[in-house]
Amino acid sequence: MTLPAAVNRCIEQLKAEHHAPLCAYVYDLPALERHIKAMREVLPENCELFYAAKANPEARVLKTLAPWVDGFEAASGGELTWLHEQCPDQPLIFGGPGKLDRELDIAMQYCISAFHVESVTELRSLARIARERGVRAPVMLRLNLKLARAPQSRLVMGGKPTPFGLDEEGLASALKIVREESSLELKGLHFHLLSHQLDVDAHLELIRSYFLTFRQLCADHNLQLPVLNVGGGMGIHYQDVTQSFDWARFCRGLKELIDEYGMGATRIRFEIGRFISAACGYYVMQVLDIKSSHGEFFAIGRGGTHHFRTPAAQGHDHPFTVVRGTEPAQITGQSVTLVGQLCTPKDVLARQQPVAQLAIGDLLVFTLAGAYAWNISHQNFLMHEPPRKVFIEG
Ligand SMILES: *Cc1c(COP(=O)(O)O)cnc(C)c1O
Repeated sequence: MTLPAAVNRCIEQLKAEHHAPLCAYVYDLPALERHIKAMREVLPENCELFYAAKANPEARVLKTLAPWVDGFEAASGGELTWLHEQCPDQPLIFGGPGKLDRELDIAMQYCISAFHVESVTELRSLARIARERGVRAPVMLRLNLKLARAPQSRLVMGGKPTPFGLDEEGLASALKIVREESSLELKGLHFHLLSHQLDVDAHLELIRSYFLTFRQLCADHNLQLPVLNVGGGMGIHYQDVTQSFDWARFCRGLKELIDEYGMGATRIRFEIGRFISAACGYYVMQVLDIKSSHGEFFAIGRGGTHHFRTPAAQGHDHPFTVVRGTEPAQITGQSVTLVGQLCTPKDVLARQQPVAQLAIGDLLVFTLAGAYAWNISHQNFLMHEPPRKVFIEG
């Protein structure tokens, strides 16, 4: 796989500027901007696109996305405050289980588009806090739907017992609270059942059942709701990017479903993380050592899974490219396991990967490292230096 020219240039420059072995995250902001614009362009008219910031909350990433999204989704009080500080005018969604009263209270001062309520207890707290402040809190009720066919993907957080959202049976009691509490303003329903979705047709079927359920629940409970949040979860195929979620095809199917189910007057809201930011990030490790152990080659890079836990978290071999240095090859046409500097056999980024050539001093550039990467890593383990962070500008 060849790296984009801007990324190559950036890495060459880093190498020239620094004499110590390199370890860095490189974020290609112009590429991120092109990607979000392209996503936006094909999105049907009545749809909204929020960015789920937990995928990558880097300030520069947020600021690049801000003009092209309808807002940000925060999955915790900490994220919420961070997002408010970085982009005070962006509409925010406050989701996630176990919200503290204090966090709900602070949120009342921000530009909140919706509180995603995950339980009846939380709904009661929200009502009380909003009442005390004399404001109305915009509420979306998260539902853990029971579907005829449970969704299939590597990470499912609904359609089965989970700590997220309300069961459909719990909806009536939640609605009773909403009707009694004038401090709550019900905006709509929220479904987010899975992540790592690669199959467009399966996802369209899921959206179809969301539409059907939304309409049915509105009819059953006599509700007129302006917003339906259909979550995120569009997947990246790490071994073959061309098999990643086909967003353009999905949007064409989505438009057909919107027409078929008369959903044109409802705002269909997405909150997407991985699919937005994964491709803009690169994790770069310079090779410190190459050795053979019991017949297998290992390349030890500067850094490791304490910076870049994605391959360990996903249990996969992460895709990478070798940027050759000036040393003659020590390995030619062999397989090598790429590891970091940690004293644990779990510190593996890719196992037994064929490389054409590799030498000490070469760079291993891991692609698709812009989502659930640095910020999900156990950064202080072993107290190694953090990676440099470099942002390519337009
Ligand atoms: C994490 C999360 C998302 C984003 O998921 P991606 O797979 O990164 O798109 C959206 N909604 C909720 C409620 C989440 O927890």
